[in-house]
Amino acid sequence: MTQAPGDVPGDAELLAAVAAERERIEELLCELVAVPTTLGNEEAGQVVMTEAFRSAGLEPFDVALDADALRASPHASPFSWSVEGKRSVVATWDPPGPATGRTLILNGHVDVVTAGPADLWSSAAFTPRRDGTGWLYGRGACDMKSGLAAMVGAVRALRRLGVGPGARLTLQSVIEEECTGNGALQCVLAGHGAADAAILVEPMAGDVGVAQVGVSWFDVRVFGVPGHTADAAISHSAIDVAQDVIAALRGLEEELNADIPPAFAALARPITLNVGAIHSGEVASIIAGDCLLRCRIAHFPGADLADLRRRIEAAVATGAAGSGGRPPVVSYDGFAAPGYALEGAGELLSALDLATTRAGLPCPPRRALPATSDARVLGLAGGTPSVLYGARGERMHAPDERVWLPSVTETAGALALFIRDWCGLQGLPASR
Ligand SMILES: [Zn+2]
Repeated sequence: MTQAPGDVPGDAELLAAVAAERERIEELLCELVAVPTTLGNEEAGQVVMTEAFRSAGLEPFDVALDADALRASPHASPFSWSVEGKRSVVATWDPPGPATGRTLILNGHVDVVTAGPADLWSSAAFTPRRDGTGWLYGRGACDMKSGLAAMVGAVRALRRLGVGPGARLTLQSVIEEECTGNGALQCVLAGHGAADAAILVEPMAGDVGVAQVGVSWFDVRVFGVPGHTADAAISHSAIDVAQDVIAALRGLEEELNADIPPAFAALARPITLNVGAIHSGEVASIIAGDCLLRCRIAHFPGADLADLRRRIEAAVATGAAGSGGRPPVVSYDGFAAPGYALEGAGELLSALDLATTRAGLPCPPRRALPATSDARVLGLAGGTPSVLYGARGERMHAPDERVWLPSVTETAGALALFIRDWCGLQGLPASR
């Protein structure tokens, strides 16, 4: 089927074309969940996404991560691991005729966090499981393989109707969203980060994300005075020191929550400190000599990250003051991500309001996030007004993560309408 030029499909026609893609959208999502794309293992997901972009009639290309280029960018987060051989995948869809509309980026991340304790899951984390009522379970089902499947579905629906965007539409499947944002940053460095708008198809449950806190990762190694448990009077366990350090960092967390900017006022406690991992000790009869804490703390947009680091280090020094051991060591590996708040993007927000309501969905409430996302990368490094919008799910980063499948196709429908309204549509040349 081919659309005559100037003959733009209406809401019902577009939504019907998306509905016809529902099965394929859900199949793609299951295929993606079945590949455990944790840090360092993203490639199998990019193989699936490359094929998915091809199936939508696009010609995807690789954006290889380049350690030197990343480290030279002021927008990069530090990383200690090798990025050799790793890639984001991009596909651009240019209008068949002269551009008539506004450009758009649809972005999703293929990487997922680790599954956590296997016995806390009801079924295997990387085996997609439908429960028969509409929920799909699996790590990444919600965050955010749902978004990748939805954006491919929207593009396939347009192609099914014989229309293409009236201005460049860029699709990105990036990596390292969950640890650095460097997969999205590499797209920006390669010249694919600038557009009139970007939608990060994150699982926002139908809300639109317009502001997000910054996130910094830091590691703290503290020392005690190790020894025999018989020498407890002269020894000092590093595990006890670590508890004092955590208490001091909680004080910093408290301070950072003291002055909440208006964009985050709806959140009771936007700034959180999370001690995500503790490594220490060997056996019960040794007083532990060292303890490593892997931490994450949030901060508001505009925070001075150098100053924040000084405050982290001061809190750690205070907490470890009575250890009697070596001074603590603070190091930084992973997110050094500033906060981001959308400003003056009224046209983008009203176009999204219109697309969602015409798709039969509620007008999306604006929401600030107490977490980070690649919206900050496209927004701050790419200069592209960026919002989050996507499917409904539960238990992200937790056991039994799940997504409500109907919301994935609904997201694809809203995206298809948004593309029509934002980019415009043009008839594609008749295919043979
Ligand atoms: Zn995500």
